[in-house]
Amino acid sequence: MMDAVVIGAGPIGLIAARALAHRGDRVRLFDPSVEKPKMSLALAESTLQLLARLGVDDVAGQPIGEIHVSEKGVPGSALMTAESLGYPRFGRVACSHDLEAAVRKDLSVAIETERVASVRARGVETPPKVILENGDVLAPDVVLLADGGRSPLTESLGFVAQKRPFDRTALLGRVRASRPIPGRAYERFVGTGPLAMLPLSESIYGFVWSLEPLVAERLLAHPTELMAALSSAADPALGILEPVNEPVAIPLVERWIDQPYRPGVMIIGNGAQTIHPVAGQGLNLALRGLSRWLAALDESAVDEAMSVAFSEWKRDRDRTRLASSALERLFNIPAGWRRLGTAVGLSVFDQSPRLKRQLAEAGMGLFS
Ligand SMILES: Cc1cc2nc3c(=O)[nH]c(=O)nc-3n(C[C@H](O)[C@H](O)[C@H](O)COP(=O)(O)OP(=O)(O)OC[C@H]3O[C@@H](n4cnc5c(N)ncnc54)[C@H](O)[C@@H]3O)c2cc1C
Repeated sequence: MMDAVVIGAGPIGLIAARALAHRGDRVRLFDPSVEKPKMSLALAESTLQLLARLGVDDVAGQPIGEIHVSEKGVPGSALMTAESLGYPRFGRVACSHDLEAAVRKDLSVAIETERVASVRARGVETPPKVILENGDVLAPDVVLLADGGRSPLTESLGFVAQKRPFDRTALLGRVRASRPIPGRAYERFVGTGPLAMLPLSESIYGFVWSLEPLVAERLLAHPTELMAALSSAADPALGILEPVNEPVAIPLVERWIDQPYRPGVMIIGNGAQTIHPVAGQGLNLALRGLSRWLAALDESAVDEAMSVAFSEWKRDRDRTRLASSALERLFNIPAGWRRLGTAVGLSVFDQSPRLKRQLAEAGMGLFS
């Protein structure tokens, strides 16, 4: 049994705290913020399996049974169905608030709202330290920094993030479709950038649409224009789209820390890497890394477990990060060539169960 401090109670910090408490560790969890953003999250099969091991198997949302891939203005499309590949589902779409509520249910760890002032890594003879703004000093065995992608604590520990802006802004929100197909998620390439639509309930979809920043700003300021543009961009099979909430804009940047750990301190979640959201992999990827560390802890001490887990997981991180960015970078290719490539690519892909299985398993976090 060890003493752990988790800083940040976003989805990753909460799940990490639950996993450590499940192991029997003594956990303290800090987060001063009570307002959390509401997002539609595609939870991969690997994430659902981890949650089930932690006793969380009642997250509200919709199972994903089909993924439809298409490009606007290009003939042909590809449809992957979980059933035809022998899976009960590809994953599940959940609202981030429902996920957090499910993880917090019966959680023995309370969220403490005291602000963390600084963190120090383990020294030769000193344990890692967490210094609270009220002056209290904690000396746990391990500190997990799960405080998101804009963390001053991470910077003060000397971690330097690599950054690659996409020059794109994501608009995210919810719409109601007049002709929904239950359980079908959409990945659609539109002239401006990729558009993902995730089925949250029978007729409500969460969307993430990557756009040039000025276009995103204009559409956000003109909701009627946004709905018209979204309706024209989305798969026409969905019918009429109506807004369900007020969309928000997030500037997109790829950001990662090469080696996100120091003695006694590990960064997890968005703080360690922020990837393009359109493939819906950020949370899933981070949880695969966390799972590896938890497994390594059964065999090794804290610091060694970090190094073992990271070396095993790094390839997954590089692959997922690059694949997610590739969807955006496709839009730097001249439209004519890209459309031709998409038309050929989609028809080859649609005829190939092997390619479908490989893509599905990567998305589900089931790398072979
Ligand atoms: C538009 C969009 C769509 C996405 N869709 C998907 C998807 O479909 N599937 C998927 O797997 N991933 C998706 N992601 C990624 C996913 O949302 C993130 O990976 C996930 O939210 C990261 O969670 P986190 O806990 O690391 O960070 P955050 O959610 O940012 O949480 C950080 C927490 O730390 C707290 N904090 C900050 N500073 C301190 C401090 N000093 N002390 C204590 N607490 C602090 C904050 O209050 C916050 O609660 C998406 C991301 C975006 C932007």
